[in-house]
Amino acid sequence: MSNGLIVSISGPSGVGKGTVIAKLREMIPAFGQSISATSRAPRGAEKDGVEYYFKTKEEFEALIAEGEIIEYDVYVGNYYGTPLTPLITMSGKGQDVLLDLTVAGSLALKEKFDETVTIFLLPPTLKELRSRLTGRGTETEELVDKRMAQAKTEIASAPKFDYVVTNDDVDRAAEEIAAIVEAEHARYVRRSKEVDTLLAE
Ligand code: 5GP
Repeated sequence: MSNGLIVSISGPSGVGKGTVIAKLREMIPAFGQSISATSRAPRGAEKDGVEYYFKTKEEFEALIAEGEIIEYDVYVGNYYGTPLTPLITMSGKGQDVLLDLTVAGSLALKEKFDETVTIFLLPPTLKELRSRLTGRGTETEELVDKRMAQAKTEIASAPKFDYVVTNDDVDRAAEEIAAIVEAEHARYVRRSKEVDTLLAE
């Protein structure tokens, strides 16, 4: 049996990554979930070990030193990182794992595991992205401008990703990602053992 895919989705703030990922999980409940470690404080009803493993900066740095964090990034002043053991355990069992990472995080995983499939989620237009960011109603004009500048920098990294999917419609975008995952399973490199077995019959 081949290892499960490590499907990592990135995209600018406001693109709707969380919603598309929630839809995908509903469509494909077998997806494994990698629970990241973070040094940011829990928000609302977030619970330790559910949305994240909440750590102090010192605890997070100790995990890095132990080699238990396979990739990490600093986002808005806080650490976010992927714990190694659960990820390789799930993939090693043949289970596909879905991750929501920063651009640097997806690209780092790609360097580390052949099973990684990186997907960049694009907004249909920058105008639409701005209106989604403004529509949240929580950000000042200045913060929206800052996020838009950041979004452009991130979109400039899209050529480094394996796939680009436009979030024009949540259901459609989730279906497109599900189709990518299916096609990735059919790659010869992932089916070569099956071919060899048939040839040896
Ligand atoms: P939030 O604070 O809104 O939950 O997450 C902020 C950002 O951190 C999101 O864009 C998410 O993609 C990213 N993120 C969450 N976990 C990880 C992780 O383990 N590694 C990296 N590189 N980014 C992460």
